[in-house]
Amino acid sequence: MPVGTQGTVKAVPQDVLESLGAEIILANTYHLYLRPGHEAIRRMGGLHRLMSWPRALLTDSGGFQVFSLSALRKVTDDGVRFRSHLDGSSHFFTPEHAIDVQIALGADIAMSFDECTEYPATRARAEESLRLTMAWARRSLDRFRAHLSRAPWADATGCGMQCFGIVQGGMYRDLRRQCAERLVEMDFDGYAIGGLSVGEPRELTLEMIAEVLPLLRADKPRYVMGVGYPEEIEQYARMGVDMMDCVLPTRAARHGLLFTSEGRLNIKNKQFAEDQGPADAACDCPVCRRYTRAYLRHLMQAGEALAATLNTIHNLAFYLGIMRRVRTEMDKAGNGE
Ligand SMILES: [Zn+2]
Repeated sequence: MPVGTQGTVKAVPQDVLESLGAEIILANTYHLYLRPGHEAIRRMGGLHRLMSWPRALLTDSGGFQVFSLSALRKVTDDGVRFRSHLDGSSHFFTPEHAIDVQIALGADIAMSFDECTEYPATRARAEESLRLTMAWARRSLDRFRAHLSRAPWADATGCGMQCFGIVQGGMYRDLRRQCAERLVEMDFDGYAIGGLSVGEPRELTLEMIAEVLPLLRADKPRYVMGVGYPEEIEQYARMGVDMMDCVLPTRAARHGLLFTSEGRLNIKNKQFAEDQGPADAACDCPVCRRYTRAYLRHLMQAGEALAATLNTIHNLAFYLGIMRRVRTEMDKAGNGE
């Protein structure tokens, strides 16, 4: 899932995302709640309509941004009080409020409110954090079920909006297991593994995914949040992960880092100054079909807005291409379930 933080995958228009084959994108509840505001978005018919995106949308719970971006957080059992990173104004997010905001945005998939446990965390800290996440998961799901009909596009027959639970537990295998089992009992529409890619070594990320994945129902979506590099997303998909999101392809693109079939390249390097080849000779994205490395480098050097657009289109095409290839190979091998 390309990440469209503020209701836009930075630098790329929606028609291009469609032509690249993006079926679902992610938007950030925290950002849209602060600006333009979830009630304004509800009045305008929901986020799909505001951004003119007819395909699927997933909103995160806001928890991760509250913990990573905002200032002066105060966490209690009830929720989190925090100050906006935009203007310092004070806000209070409870699981119920996080769900209300997501229902107002009207995405197809809402996430339960969780606390993303930092890394490293002591056992006692991870246990306490997990206790909070599990209590908040219950409250999130209850609120979701009770208020689902308030989605901007709900009609008399309801709507197809879903709510996913998030497995936390730090880097402790038994805590992860405990959380996964409890969430499966609660019967969410899908399950995410959160709190990974927070600075831990990659072997640990892999270990946690391998521990949790078999405990989650394979007939419901299994989503690993915030990963990863091209080789990682391929590996996780082959393990049975159905969904992933990461800012890497888009953020790296804006800094001139391109992912290619031959590895990463920094398009700003002088060696590309007169390079007449495409970013990736094996890529058939609209950027590689039309533009040279020399031109992409020039745009970066000149600080042109088109640099971000072209680089991002290529990186997204590369990431989506990996997933398409893996899906085809797994379907052929007959283990695509
Ligand atoms: Zn390309």
